[in-house]
Amino acid sequence: MSNWPMQPIGMIESCFKEKFAIPRQPGLCPSAEATLHLLPPFDQADTVRGLEAFSHVWLLFAFHETAAQGWRPTVRPPKLGGNQRVGVFATRSTFRPNPIGMSVARLAGIETDQGVRLRLAGADLLDGTPVLDIKPYLAYADAIAHASNGYADAGNAPLAVSFAAEVEPALARLTQRLPHLRQLISEVLAQDPRPGYADDPDREYGMALYDLNIRWRCQAGMAVVCSIRHTNDNLPQ
Ligand code: SAH
Repeated sequence: MSNWPMQPIGMIESCFKEKFAIPRQPGLCPSAEATLHLLPPFDQADTVRGLEAFSHVWLLFAFHETAAQGWRPTVRPPKLGGNQRVGVFATRSTFRPNPIGMSVARLAGIETDQGVRLRLAGADLLDGTPVLDIKPYLAYADAIAHASNGYADAGNAPLAVSFAAEVEPALARLTQRLPHLRQLISEVLAQDPRPGYADDPDREYGMALYDLNIRWRCQAGMAVVCSIRHTNDNLPQ
């Protein structure tokens, strides 16, 4: 074995500011926005020449947030309710011998003025994720329509999502800055980010989207958003 040097070629700026509530795979929340900022010396228009003709890209990235926690030979996927173990290589778990993730994202645009930025939609990536590589997505090679997905079948019906009357004024104000916010929150909560074993109607959950702390409860198969606040202060937005 020889050694092969690797370094991040870019960094992700994402609407998801913490791990909790990030969709479990890409494409589940099409309104999720991310920007991939290429790093020097890769941040030149030449490295992405021709990429604009592709609608989707593969990203290979480091699970930097969980990498220090190492790996185990078996893991308990949330899909199996969190109580059945399968081999690490039979999962898309973040706790892997080499903490490498792969996600497909829609390529919404490329900017090459002052550095290089890829605008991405539908990514399941944490803010600050180091990206190791970009490859164009090739539907004829990468999409296998009749593949079997074992325990990881898409399955679960989405949760219904509603907004409490108290959050409407904040939402209306924020929509000027983030026009897709209501849609984004709805898509994220429809995936039911709660751990599989949690079902407490009084429990309040929170997630960090952009600079906002969004809180909700789950009652009778419905997620109800009960507060939207700025993360930096406790003032309602
Ligand atoms: N599509 C990827 C990721 C699947 S795991 C793959 O198959 O490899 C999905 C989880 O990765 C998300 O729920 C999110 O919490 C987590 N995640 C995203 N970016 C991460 C990062 N930089 N470090 C650690 N975990 C991350």
